[in-house]
Amino acid sequence: MTDWNTMTDQPTDQPKGCPKQKSGAPGPGSAIISARGLMQSFDVSGHGQIVLNDLSIDIRRGNFTVIMGPSGAGKSTLLYALAGLSRPTGGTIDFAGKSITMMRDDELAVFRRRNCGFVFQQHQLLERMSLMDNVIVAGALTMRSKRQIVEKSRELFALVHIDTETQKRTSAQVSGGEAQRASIVRALINDPALVFADEPTGALNSRHAKTVLDVFSMLHARGQSIVMVTHDRHSALRANRVLYLRDGVIAGECALGSWASGTYDGREHKLAVFLEEMGW
Ligand code: ADP
Ligand code: MG
Repeated sequence: MTDWNTMTDQPTDQPKGCPKQKSGAPGPGSAIISARGLMQSFDVSGHGQIVLNDLSIDIRRGNFTVIMGPSGAGKSTLLYALAGLSRPTGGTIDFAGKSITMMRDDELAVFRRRNCGFVFQQHQLLERMSLMDNVIVAGALTMRSKRQIVEKSRELFALVHIDTETQKRTSAQVSGGEAQRASIVRALINDPALVFADEPTGALNSRHAKTVLDVFSMLHARGQSIVMVTHDRHSALRANRVLYLRDGVIAGECALGSWASGTYDGREHKLAVFLEEMGW
């Protein structure tokens, strides 16, 4: 993986009416996702509810982007649309140069498998299988030999500090933090361009949440692009860019230095000021 640790923060785009990404070789800081004019409405007992209202957003390579906002603002809806898990009512999403909004369902499924890793609030591991088998099943969706998949899983489990004995247990036999770290391994097994996480620490106590956040910070330092939804400001501090979703659009954004730079107090203050401005 490319080491983008030394990358300085890129100047941030304006959330609305951002200029189109310049063409050229993709590198750190170039847009991996460009979404324009996203609309999402739901029909609830005859009443139309508009959740995303002409929303535009760029997600850049090598960034750890966090999306915050009030409960019910549409954070999960936005994340699932960007990840190709749901179809927005309107607008376009380019992902790694491909228009995923134009893809047929079967094309989109293949694209997602190859490019997206998902981590949910509940780990969603299959309960009857060991942690290792959960990862192997996910790895088998792409065309590699079982030996390659097992080798890769072992590397990834080591990276998230889950030992060989624990890998053989089921999710019910390990701690919440271990199960969630295993679900991150599952998300990474197919080398996704982007890892999506929806409130990944929401169901964990603070000690286990920290072990999970440390994994995200480490992945970011290794160059992995991450988009995480959270309502927790301590989790948000791990990001280098925080977006605030309100009234169906990205109402503002805050650029933080990289977590690895260790300037915790400065980051915390900057985020606190930003969240206050946003009416958090
Ligand atoms: P958040 O993640 O910010 O808390 P969500 O994206 O889950 O918010 O939901 C935003 C709004 O959209 C909520 O009012 C929710 O009830 C509504 N919503 C989400 N998904 C659906 C759906 N499939 N059908 C109807 N309403 C939905
Ligand atoms: Mg949500």
